[in-house]
Amino acid sequence: MPALRLPPVPLWLPIWLALGLAGGAVLVRWDIAQRREAFQDGARVAHRLLSQRAAQHDAILATLALLPAASAGTPDDLALRLPQLYPQLLAVLRREPGRAWDDPALAAAEDKARLRRAAEIAAVDARVGRYTLVVPAVGGGGGAAALRIDAHHLVLPGEWPLRNGRSPARAVLVLGPHTLVLDPGPPAAARPAGLTAGFTFAQALASASQPFELRLQQDTGPAQWPWGPLLAWALASGAGLASAWQWWRTRQERQRSAELARLAQAARLGTLGGMAAGLAHEVNQPLTAVLAGTRTALRLLPAGQAPEPEDLDTARQALELAAAQARRAADVLARLRRLVERPDATAAPQAMRLEASVAALLALLAPELRRRGVRAEVAGQAPPVWADPVALEQVVHNLVTNALQALEDAPPPAPETAHIVLQVQADNAARRARLVVRDNGPGIAPQALPRLFEPFFTTRRGGLGLGLPLCESLAQAMGGTLCARNAAPRGAEFVLELPLAPASSPDPSGTISA
Ligand code: ADP
Repeated sequence: MPALRLPPVPLWLPIWLALGLAGGAVLVRWDIAQRREAFQDGARVAHRLLSQRAAQHDAILATLALLPAASAGTPDDLALRLPQLYPQLLAVLRREPGRAWDDPALAAAEDKARLRRAAEIAAVDARVGRYTLVVPAVGGGGGAAALRIDAHHLVLPGEWPLRNGRSPARAVLVLGPHTLVLDPGPPAAARPAGLTAGFTFAQALASASQPFELRLQQDTGPAQWPWGPLLAWALASGAGLASAWQWWRTRQERQRSAELARLAQAARLGTLGGMAAGLAHEVNQPLTAVLAGTRTALRLLPAGQAPEPEDLDTARQALELAAAQARRAADVLARLRRLVERPDATAAPQAMRLEASVAALLALLAPELRRRGVRAEVAGQAPPVWADPVALEQVVHNLVTNALQALEDAPPPAPETAHIVLQVQADNAARRARLVVRDNGPGIAPQALPRLFEPFFTTRRGGLGLGLPLCESLAQAMGGTLCARNAAPRGAEFVLELPLAPASSPDPSGTISA
């Protein structure tokens, strides 16, 4: 038997998580895109700077090759001054025409350079990050020249564009098997651990003589995510959701109260109607007796005596007046009874699901049930019934309220807990559906059972005894019945029977009922 869950499911938690994750993902993606863009910008600047340096080396060497040298391998004045101007130049070497290089690697590189008619790298010392660049001698008295370059000083510290980010990039120059480290990046322990290789850049320098490939790599990972804004987003979305949730709860509560007030108003009107009908019924009999008595008295008065005594005439007039007033009062009562005893005059029957209507009512009464510690269950189902929604709601509300009152007056002995079961059953053969409202309260005293549906019969202090008669007349107006019995092992059971909706009527759940 599926129990109706009365407290609302805390939906806000998964919604908050989903909202937080979605917003967080957008924030992180945006932050990564920003950092990638900054890295690419820095990488392009670094590439341009290094290419410019390479071009600078070519220009210095070309100038040196045109100038006469002092002696082979000996630094002259210019050779002394150049390293002061360019910090990356460790040494400037010259070879006088007709003399040979001390270092055979320089001689071999010069031969190659002569063939290519461009500067040539003679040696790369990756361990210390240095390389030597040679140009051949050209005609006109100039000698061959070479530059020993320190890669670490190719770019001045202030110029390097990739050192001011949140995580500096590792930068190397690669030429064949040689790798010159320009910037080792942060130590392994300080690198952010991420799932990807991070941001990378690889591009050969724009130089024919020094075709190094510049490779940059910057690690990125959760340690660099914008945790401040992420936390702010989580708090803001949580606060937004909490106020939306609060607003929704208040709205629900307001709707529930309005619905209960409407039911209470309908119950009051029904009670008044029942009271008027009961009074009319009770007063009608004495009134009929008064009318009959007056008419008999009128008939018995001696008539046709002349001259007639004055008293007799006055008495006749008084009796006629009394009879006319009694008739008038009887007419008023008859009109009143016609009005209040025909609840079908306003009924608008339609196909509706009994279990859905019961579940909606229980949801409405949920706070009340919770407050009183009463468990309520709706079970079973039936094809759509043909009923007036307002009248049906009123009957079920009355039955559940009666059960609640009975449970409050005499709760079941521990360890049993107070409960109300609303069982929906179908009797397809009779084309009727049944709603059994059962509680485990005190039940109905045998002597009270036959009188329950009498107007003004009540066993409760302050009770009016009009609820059940009203329910019965509402049930009858819908072509149904209402009866009461005691349940086993304890409690009362009210059975409401209603006709099933005609086969052709549209199913309230959207399909055509069978
Ligand atoms: P009221 O509630 O004003 O007494 P009702 O017509 O609703 O009028 O109920 C008439 C009587 O039926 C109640 O006084 C009570 O004795 C009895 N009764 C109704 N419902 C139950 C129930 N669930 N358990 C026990 N007695 C009930």
